Amino acid sequence: MKLIFEKSVPGRHCSLLPKCDVPDAALPEALVRQTAPALPELSEVDLSRHYTELNQRVHGVNCGFYPLGSCTMKYNPRVDEDMAALPGFAGVHPLAPKDAVQGCLSVLDTAKTYLCEITGMDGMTFQPAAGAHGEFTGVLLIKQYHRKRGDFKRTKIIVPDSAHGTNPATAAMCGFEVVNIPSAPDGCVDLEALKAVLGDDTAGLMLTNPNTVGIFDENILEITRLVHEAGGLCYYDGANLNAVMGVVRPGDMGFDCIHMNLHKTFATPHGGGGPGACAVGCKAFLEEFLPASALMQGEGRLQVRSFMGNFLVVVRALTYLLTLGRDGIPEAAQNAVLNANYLMRRIQGTFEPAFDRVCMHEFVLDLSEYKKETGVSALDVAKALIDYGMHPPTMYFPMIVHEALMLEPTETESKETLDWAADVFREVYARGKTDPDYLHGAPHHAQIGRPDEVRASRNPVVRWTKP
Ligand SMILES: *Cc1c(COP(=O)(O)O)cnc(C)c1O
Repeated sequence: MKLIFEKSVPGRHCSLLPKCDVPDAALPEALVRQTAPALPELSEVDLSRHYTELNQRVHGVNCGFYPLGSCTMKYNPRVDEDMAALPGFAGVHPLAPKDAVQGCLSVLDTAKTYLCEITGMDGMTFQPAAGAHGEFTGVLLIKQYHRKRGDFKRTKIIVPDSAHGTNPATAAMCGFEVVNIPSAPDGCVDLEALKAVLGDDTAGLMLTNPNTVGIFDENILEITRLVHEAGGLCYYDGANLNAVMGVVRPGDMGFDCIHMNLHKTFATPHGGGGPGACAVGCKAFLEEFLPASALMQGEGRLQVRSFMGNFLVVVRALTYLLTLGRDGIPEAAQNAVLNANYLMRRIQGTFEPAFDRVCMHEFVLDLSEYKKETGVSALDVAKALIDYGMHPPTMYFPMIVHEALMLEPTETESKETLDWAADVFREVYARGKTDPDYLHGAPHHAQIGRPDEVRASRNPVVRWTKP
């Protein structure tokens, strides 16, 4: 496919702007371009075809099954988009006076009330632009809490080895030393390992529960009790709340602070670079450290982002909450868990789950035995799925499982789709046994085969330059 610049023909254009009906304003000489910008010049039909062609080369949740684990690439109801497009929301100016935007403030306040109820928290901000940014905000609350008490010796944040990579990165960005603890063989936190690192230098623990292998830690109350006993705080990475929303509350598990990715669980299409939004909730004793917002006045509060954050993402989240309601929210979570368990059991017998137990919203397949036997890797299998019109699952994550494929079917997939997906996995499994070379060369029918992934990440060419 040609780049839009390569399709450009000098002088061709789409539509004509109406004649300017206001006087020209002279710009300061220093701001005026010396040469015209190199913009592509296309007719409207060619432009339309260009973007349609691009669209057809992409796999989205509207094209087919997209079981990307850890990320909830789920179908987002169209009504959420309709609400976000209402002119009163979409056209609102960030500097509008408060009395002109009471409806918008009410959206923020209502969403906060519901999400606090769902998480068992007291205070909340919507400012952060995404999950990692929310973690950064939340861990700063923990830092500030210790500082205010004059407790400067708490320099360490404990992170289990099953954590999402953003957790240790966040702790380090906030100036903490990261203490990694190994998981027990069942994929949960190793209580002895936790006890061994807790002390009066512990600022807190960052935990995902259910964790990134899709397992709900049965010792969660004991874990948070131990951390509190040592004087630390508990941070809940709720980026993906799909398994537990409306069912169990992180606040009741003993967590003090949480972030949720509204662009994962709460109805904003995710992928393609945003915008996202992150809700950071906290218990009442941390509220005084939350960033400033229009809902919450306070002297000396800082902001972590301009204005109200990505407000329209909150509009989608509130619509999602209102359309599902008190019964629908736990039902969605339960269906997400049911679908994951169903798919795991339908695939089992070919590729085996890394942990043979009831999973939450996602599960991990361990292909290390299969690879030993056939030479076919998790990467080969992931690539082969593309030929069937399925987006590959997450590969090689979490790191505690070798040759990992991590699947999260989500709640909206039908039994028919899950049966189809399981059949595809079984077919690929069988093919790898008899014809491993076929899988080494997959995908065979995609637009792009196997790009040189090392070169693509080390030497990305993302900008067109005039030849
Ligand atoms: C996605 C995710 C994050 C990071 O969120 P971003 O919006 O990508 O910054 C953090 N933790 C977990 C468990 C996640 O799944």
